[in-house]
Amino acid sequence: MRVPYKVNLPTGERYSFIKNTINSRQLNTVCEEAHCPNISECWESGTATFMVLGSNCSRGCRFCAVTHGNMLPLDPDEPQKVYDSIKLMNLDYVVITSVDRDDLPDKGSSAFARVIEKVKELGIKIEVLIPDFGGDHADLDRIIAAEPDVIAHNIETVRRLTPSVRDPRAGYDQTLSVLKYIKGSMKGVITKSSIMVGLGETDEEVEETMMDLRNAGVEILTVGQYLRPTKKQLEVVEYSPMSRFKHFEEAGYEMGFSFVASGPLVRTSYRAAEGYIKMRDK
Ligand code: SF4
Ligand code: SF4
Repeated sequence: MRVPYKVNLPTGERYSFIKNTINSRQLNTVCEEAHCPNISECWESGTATFMVLGSNCSRGCRFCAVTHGNMLPLDPDEPQKVYDSIKLMNLDYVVITSVDRDDLPDKGSSAFARVIEKVKELGIKIEVLIPDFGGDHADLDRIIAAEPDVIAHNIETVRRLTPSVRDPRAGYDQTLSVLKYIKGSMKGVITKSSIMVGLGETDEEVEETMMDLRNAGVEILTVGQYLRPTKKQLEVVEYSPMSRFKHFEEAGYEMGFSFVASGPLVRTSYRAAEGYIKMRDK
């Protein structure tokens, strides 16, 4: 099946500068690891999503191109390296995410929190896209205590497809309970989640998932088309037309989400600063 959306090839001066900055510090970005189709647009406009806690994930979701297994030790200098890169790139809004580290006793929550605390010294807004930490409240509390401005955790797909799309350790209800716990435990936090379409879900199932997220207190929603990163991942069942994304955007606002980004190439961190600004100015 041919991809019916236009994706710009990564080129440009700013793109090259950011690539060199990131690679020279041996940092990882989800933009590269996940083969994100927006890499040219985002890097040229000075937005990047840092991926901390290593390049290898302890889980193996069937849609994801991040290397699975062979877990590496944490880099104690990572907070400083991320701090230095953001400073050099002159970002005023940054998204930080991580691989899952189920191999570590605290699942990497302390190391993730240290990165947030260090980056906060720059006085910029920080959005984090976190793992579920197995639903462990002590781990989630470490992230909450570091006080990021936005906390995102992705539900990824509808309830019926979750077991065949996500790693067995991730669960639909676990994701909802993580989002609900964060919203109820941190005053003023903005919560966010993302759904991929194109995996065989119906519109009704997507709407049910959107409502479940709203009921968990989620304010920012992104809906994007699943694009198969390599032949090793799940096949695309269908490419949705623009009208389908428009429908989810309208339905999202009717349900009470404060910001909805819905489109073929939308990813969790796409137009992230815009979602935050809309919420802040509400
Ligand atoms: Fe990176 Fe997010 Fe932009 Fe993709 S949408 S290139 S992951 S910042
Ligand atoms: Fe990819 Fe799943 Fe690991 Fe996230 S938890 S990095 S989606 S394999």
